[in-house]
Amino acid sequence: MYDVTVVGAGVIGLSCAIRLQEAGLRVAVVTADGPDRTTSWVAAAVWYPTHTAADPRVLRWARATYDTFTEQAGRGVPGVSLRPTRMRLRGSTATPWWAVATADFTLTPDVPPGCTGVWSFTVPAAEMPIYLNWQIQRVAAAGGTLIRRRLERLDDVADLAPVTVNATGLAARHLADDPGVHPARGRIVLVRNPGLTTSIRDEDHPDGMTYIHPRRQDVVLGGTFEPHQSDLAPDPDAERAILDRCTALEPALADAEVLGTAAGLRPVRDGGVRLEADPQNPSLIHVYGHGGAGMTLSWGCADEVTALVTALRPGAAA
Ligand SMILES: Cc1cc2nc3c(=O)[nH]c(=O)nc-3n(C[C@H](O)[C@H](O)[C@H](O)COP(=O)(O)OP(=O)(O)OC[C@H]3O[C@@H](n4cnc5c(N)ncnc54)[C@H](O)[C@@H]3O)c2cc1C
Repeated sequence: MYDVTVVGAGVIGLSCAIRLQEAGLRVAVVTADGPDRTTSWVAAAVWYPTHTAADPRVLRWARATYDTFTEQAGRGVPGVSLRPTRMRLRGSTATPWWAVATADFTLTPDVPPGCTGVWSFTVPAAEMPIYLNWQIQRVAAAGGTLIRRRLERLDDVADLAPVTVNATGLAARHLADDPGVHPARGRIVLVRNPGLTTSIRDEDHPDGMTYIHPRRQDVVLGGTFEPHQSDLAPDPDAERAILDRCTALEPALADAEVLGTAAGLRPVRDGGVRLEADPQNPSLIHVYGHGGAGMTLSWGCADEVTALVTALRPGAAA
């Protein structure tokens, strides 16, 4: 009945499902959790290849994703917008490897106290609760089925379709028996937007990674990057520290109403994203381990997964 089963309904699984459907394939998506229980839901979801290697393959995915989101912003896809960004630098001001993927990267003449410079660039951003629901509706509208089921093993769905795509994020540690996969906890604070439209990043702030990402109604304030930490309980001290760092960067946040806090587990993988057919089972395609850049690499990875699947199924429309 189906050509492909995609296991996972975060931004990676859903982007793959959409691209596979566009290639003419019948797709079932199997997910243990509803969208609001995924890491993707919590993401600040601003395009930026954080903690990724300067690898030509990663650049290709990042570039394709940048272009797809830019096109989506242009045609009004729900939750997608373009954000001007100012990135404060604490070290080298040399142009980064990923700058060629952006439309308007420049080093500005500004040098704030304690910094070495400021990059300026525009990037796509996605409000994930809106965007993931749009993706789910897209899959359904194209005839896809969403099945709520927690698998013990990936071959639990082997009878559903001849090809399986493993987009299970952190759970790939167990499902794909990959000890290189581990969590990196991220905490954010959401405040009412006092009228901000520009993202500010200070990734190497001496007191911790700091970012301010305005959305339509709120602003995502971050953050933390805590490898091997998986406790998602609130931490008022860490949340207060995020608020303080962000308010010091952008004083307009001083009186902003706090709307909530959240934490999520980035699916980090030693060696970076795994995107390949399983060496023992060519009809199982792995696509996991996106760490802090799942949104940033999502469409490029979905394109490559679709190319692998259609190569397995030469009858399908390319
Ligand atoms: C605070 C924070 C901020 C972030 N900011 C950004 C950002 O600005 N830009 C960016 O690009 N990225 C960002 N990220 C990273 C991004 O969220 C992740 O890279 C991305 O969400 C990974 O997506 P995924 O689809 O692989 O995993 P997930 O979203 O975790 O989805 C995994 C899916 O697999 C399913 N699954 C798991 N186990 C099973 C099972 N046994 N059976 C069936 N289904 C299963 C789950 O139910 C879920 O549907 C951020 C992350 C955090 C935590």
